[in-house]
Amino acid sequence: MAKTLMIVDDSATMRKIIMRTVRMSGLEFDTIEEAGNGVEALEKLNASPVDIVLCDINMPEMTGPEMVKKAREMSSCDNTKIVMVSTESAQETIDGVMADGANGFITKPFTPENFQEKLMPFMN
Ligand SMILES: [Mg+2]
Repeated sequence: MAKTLMIVDDSATMRKIIMRTVRMSGLEFDTIEEAGNGVEALEKLNASPVDIVLCDINMPEMTGPEMVKKAREMSSCDNTKIVMVSTESAQETIDGVMADGANGFITKPFTPENFQEKLMPFMN
């Protein structure tokens, strides 16, 4: 069954780069949505959940880790996998957000293979 994806990043350029890299990875999504921050993302996820969210860490309004915590309290996101995409590579940051309910972490700069590897387990 085709999957749905949401890319959450405050940089429109970065969202485009992520989208292009996901396409290059060979993974196929039915729809790819975008959100510019955690607040916008949660509003959209509440209205129509997606299978996988790619989420930035540093964003205005609501950071990625704050968004993960809130998403994990929403029943609409029960089956949503959240994979962080960030330049933040401190183990403490990664461990913290994974403990809060993220399902994976991709560090920037990334390659199509990184997306292939980290998202493939969620494509069944
Ligand atoms: Mg950012």
